[in-house]
Amino acid sequence: MEEINTKPEIGLDPADWNDIKTLGYQIIDDMVNYLQHVGERKPWTAIPQDVKDKFKNPIPLKPTGIFEIYEEFKQNILPYPGGNIHPKHFAWVQGTGTPMGAFADLLSGVMNNNATIADQSALYVDKQVINWCKELLNYPADGSGILVSGGSIANITALIVARNTIITNAKNAGVYAAPGKLTAYCSAETHNCLGKAAEVIGIGNEQLRRIRVTDLYEIDIEALKSKIQEDKANGFIPFCIIGNAGTVNTGAIDPLNELLQIARNEQIWFHIDGAFGALAKLVPVYQNRLKAIEEADSVAFDLHKWMYMQYEVGCVLFKDAAAHKQAFANPVNYLTAHDRGLAAGPETISNYGMELSRGFKALKVWMSLKEHGADKYAAMIAQNIDQAYYLGVQVQQHPKLELMAPVTMNIVCYRYNPGNLDDEQLNMLNKELLMRMHEQGVAAPSSTLLQGKYCIRVAIVNHRTRRQHLDEMIAGTVEIGNILMKEFEK
Ligand SMILES: *Cc1c(COP(=O)(O)O)cnc(C)c1O
Repeated sequence: MEEINTKPEIGLDPADWNDIKTLGYQIIDDMVNYLQHVGERKPWTAIPQDVKDKFKNPIPLKPTGIFEIYEEFKQNILPYPGGNIHPKHFAWVQGTGTPMGAFADLLSGVMNNNATIADQSALYVDKQVINWCKELLNYPADGSGILVSGGSIANITALIVARNTIITNAKNAGVYAAPGKLTAYCSAETHNCLGKAAEVIGIGNEQLRRIRVTDLYEIDIEALKSKIQEDKANGFIPFCIIGNAGTVNTGAIDPLNELLQIARNEQIWFHIDGAFGALAKLVPVYQNRLKAIEEADSVAFDLHKWMYMQYEVGCVLFKDAAAHKQAFANPVNYLTAHDRGLAAGPETISNYGMELSRGFKALKVWMSLKEHGADKYAAMIAQNIDQAYYLGVQVQQHPKLELMAPVTMNIVCYRYNPGNLDDEQLNMLNKELLMRMHEQGVAAPSSTLLQGKYCIRVAIVNHRTRRQHLDEMIAGTVEIGNILMKEFEK
């Protein structure tokens, strides 16, 4: 018989709970201070090489004290963020988060729920948050939904359900069971995650038809209609139309009502990628243009973008709850619900998405919506839109700046253009200008190419931004542009 090991047993809780308490108070003091003064720092700071090198050290085998770890965090990690919590961060589409949202993440970290299964509060909060999301968008109350890591997975989740709705027995037979090649339709301005979704669901990227856009960067309806007819004539099987409620490049909203009509006529799935733009529906002047969201078979949107909540949290809603469940629910012995006890709880959330283990991201949504109320979010989003229009006007009024796309929501694309350069020179000039803006800490927009022209791209999903920050960015753009022109002329 083997000898039983009677060595003292170990665990990972602190040896001295007072230490963790002391550190905890210190962290709260430091972090609240950090947030309060976020705007006084630069929007972005380059990481020195010696700091980058520190992240190449091998795995620690022996313990490091918690105070020392925290010091290292303050020295090497905290000073070099992407900067999206800064009032002058306008790059990509990155939300700001809130202090209470950070606390919610701390609290869910303490509870450390696996918010999938069991009769536990997290599942009820999750369910309530999904219902609130439906209310936000005036989506049918009997629809279903799931919180996921973000828009990409939300869109993929939607396309999985759409595919399984068109192919009977898709779960067992896969796309091979379709009587032809499936095709989906979206505008050429559609986010690249839908290309990934087409790859994941097995139809392949080529079968996602990217239809050309109009001068307003909206899908060309006639081109869409004729592509669908052409595909049908060639034996393809159109199964889904994807509309944009806010494209990533310019914030364009596709003519969603017309897309809905086409989808209904063709009797195919209508999905909306509203990663950020769906939330503009909270603003009265956008309600009509985004009304089709209420009728869409599925809609994907992020709470970590234009709802200003902590990463990560996105949502996808489905009109047909049964179809949603059918796509993901596979009865398995170890997940069976019981009559009473821990396993009595609501149905496992894994019946509604790809993930089994999932964090309690619903808590930050729940706390944030309670803290501010939906009306405050509507006002906040309206303010960001007003700021974008304000910025558009500043650009148009400046003789050395050029507005590169119409402002329709919260995105502004512009460039420095003193008037005597060709597009190739302007592209080089503006790229250099943007990098200097970042390095000098003027502001942090990002870039895009519109019809081959390099643009400085400003997306405002930032509750800390004020008009003054936009003025400073404009002044900085012109100042750096003028310096570059002098260097250029030498
Ligand atoms: C950001 C974005 C996505 C992807 O969302 P993630 O949360 O980053 O995964 C999809 N579509 C649009 C229009 C987006 O702006």
